[in-house]
Amino acid sequence: MYKFEGVKTTLGCTFGLAVCLFGALHFQQNWQHYSTTISQLTLPILLFSAGFAAQFNRSRLALVCLLWTAFFASQAYTFPWSHWLENSAPWQLLCGAIILWLMSLMRDKALLSRHLISRLVILGMVGFSGHFWLISQSTVNTWLVNNHYTNQLTPYVTFHAPLFLIGTLLFWRSLTHKCLTRATLFSSFLLWLAIQLNWLALPLDVVVVIVALVYLLTVSIDSYFLAYRDDLTGLPTRRALNQLSLSLGRKYTVAMLDIDHFKKFNDTYGHDIGDQVLKLVASKLSKVKSGGKVFRYGGEEFTVVFSGRSPEIAFNALEQLREDIANYDMVIRQQQRQSKKSRQSKPPSDRKVVNVTVSIGVATRLTKQTFEQVVKSADEALYRAKKKGRNNVSN
Ligand code: GH3
Ligand code: MG
Ligand code: MG
Repeated sequence: MYKFEGVKTTLGCTFGLAVCLFGALHFQQNWQHYSTTISQLTLPILLFSAGFAAQFNRSRLALVCLLWTAFFASQAYTFPWSHWLENSAPWQLLCGAIILWLMSLMRDKALLSRHLISRLVILGMVGFSGHFWLISQSTVNTWLVNNHYTNQLTPYVTFHAPLFLIGTLLFWRSLTHKCLTRATLFSSFLLWLAIQLNWLALPLDVVVVIVALVYLLTVSIDSYFLAYRDDLTGLPTRRALNQLSLSLGRKYTVAMLDIDHFKKFNDTYGHDIGDQVLKLVASKLSKVKSGGKVFRYGGEEFTVVFSGRSPEIAFNALEQLREDIANYDMVIRQQQRQSKKSRQSKPPSDRKVVNVTVSIGVATRLTKQTFEQVVKSADEALYRAKKKGRNNVSN
């Protein structure tokens, strides 16, 4: 069963790039006076983006950025091999598309490591394969009878079909995984087509500067999420909670939540199932009513902050949450490896329904109390909730 988790990211990224290009087209008069400066700055901006991406361990974007640099340099400057590159537009089109797709299949690994060699080998193989594909196609064409139908069919087989296939695979991968890098690779693919097929009425250096800036933005947003979002549950982290605490007003309520007997749960079902349950509990928590903001405080502990709400409203929302979690039948998948044959012969037996409960401690800010003091009071209330027998809300 596929989950289309990346729809928003993919559409957002593609839309963002389209808006940048449209803006550049629309405000052409505004930047045209600076076109010399833009073309002088293009290479430094590209190299800066590649370095920035590498620094933040986004090696795929760094490598792609370096390839954009090579492409731009080959167009803007004359090299001994420029003559050969001039006649290689179809090869560039195909290879560029394949590389973007392959990058979407890979994982980010440190750029300057042994993985770089294997990636360079892959790039070389793509280059050779693209070359042989084009040669084989032209050879087949000379064999075929030179009639109207085969002439019309040739570009479809050589370019349209492979590009459509690559585009679909990239799009699918981007839609089914919530990953900003993959979404950026997909929008890069669309842009690559647009450049190679001359669909854009913009100078190459402007387009390439936009690409470099989009990559910079992607890496920055990704790094922000890395710092402020918890990897497992997708909830904001304790760091984000500390950040929020600086902007809270005088009236707020803090709740500390703790999953009951979670150590025992882990011991019974294993850490992997424990992780799945943490995710499911987090997804329930994020539906908290009355404007509560949820954070993963650490381990199996969560914090909910109600800003500007009365203690009663917060208490009711938390009581509802506790009940929802206690009544939530969580379907978990056990990581049993089954052979293909046994999977076909038996119904899937690796699904299991489990339940957990949470204890909640609540504290409302009193005059002159700091955020840390309110959290401490909520922690003490949580201790009381545990002592009362768990699965309850205490204040
Ligand atoms: P209590 O009802 O008193 O809260 O008991 P407890 O067992 O939940 O409390 P305790 O603090 O002793 O254990 C917390 C457990 O939570 C220990 C650890 O194995 C588990 N845990 C913490 N973080 C994670 C995580 O990210 N994944 C998994 N699977 N388990 C975690
Ligand atoms: Mg705990
Ligand atoms: Mg616990």
